[in-house]
Amino acid sequence: MDVFAVPGLPEVRPGDDLAALVKERTDLRDDDVLVVASTVVSKAEGRLADLEDFPAGPRAREIADRLASISGDEKDPRFAQAVLEESTELLMEAPFLLTATKFGHIGVNAGIDRSNVGGDADLLLLPERPSESAARIREALRADPGVVVTDTCGRPFRHGQRGVAIGWDGVPASRDWRGETDRDGHELAVTVESVVDELASAANLVTGEGDDGLPVAVVRDWEFGDHGGSENLYRDVDGDFVRQALRGWEFAGH
Ligand code: GDP
Ligand code: MN
Ligand code: MN
Repeated sequence: MDVFAVPGLPEVRPGDDLAALVKERTDLRDDDVLVVASTVVSKAEGRLADLEDFPAGPRAREIADRLASISGDEKDPRFAQAVLEESTELLMEAPFLLTATKFGHIGVNAGIDRSNVGGDADLLLLPERPSESAARIREALRADPGVVVTDTCGRPFRHGQRGVAIGWDGVPASRDWRGETDRDGHELAVTVESVVDELASAANLVTGEGDDGLPVAVVRDWEFGDHGGSENLYRDVDGDFVRQALRGWEFAGH
């Protein structure tokens, strides 16, 4: 399989037609997967905001004060307010904000970016419904590839960030290996491979994190193969024991 970045994309602005910008610069095939950084999806969708749009309530001020006393740096309570407004559940409030977004993704600061924001806005919010964004992009292309919208996220247990899928369309979220056999003939009982995350990580290797200007990658000649698929990436709270454990956890200092 090949993974290559779409060259020459401009700074994306609110109202831009992302699919048209991509179409002009690359010939897509039906069996490609187009992987798009949420940064540019958000910019095109006008998900830019200013801190002054989020007057801080008491909860946000309390959170910011606590984060400031832990880090020794000033923390803008309006940023905490923005994170709260983008979220349905606050899973950790110290030593950083970990929240569940409205569309199911769990991330630090609700995925709100303060880098590569462009223009004079302070904040870039994640797309409201990234899988719908992916579907819209897919519909507006000439070919019919899968589309994955990504963000760069940290993870528990390991250092370093990597690309993950936050929205997808035209490609199953997962490849279901259950019921298939390993080399010893044993039936696989639990393996459901999150292919959209793997595609996101592969694409992130060529898009970079800084000033590369390469927000869109094409994955070519990758095959899903003859497997079952599943659309579901986000666990239900009922079956998410790590999330449940966090509900009873309190930060007690470094
Ligand atoms: P995120 O992972 O979705 O939060 O996005 P990043 O900030 O890591 O950016 C991913 C890639 O897109 C990097 O190569 C950036 O330089 C690039 N990028 C971000 N915004 C734009 C834009 O408006 N136009 C172009 N051409 N590249 C951008
Ligand atoms: Mn981001
Ligand atoms: Mn990134």
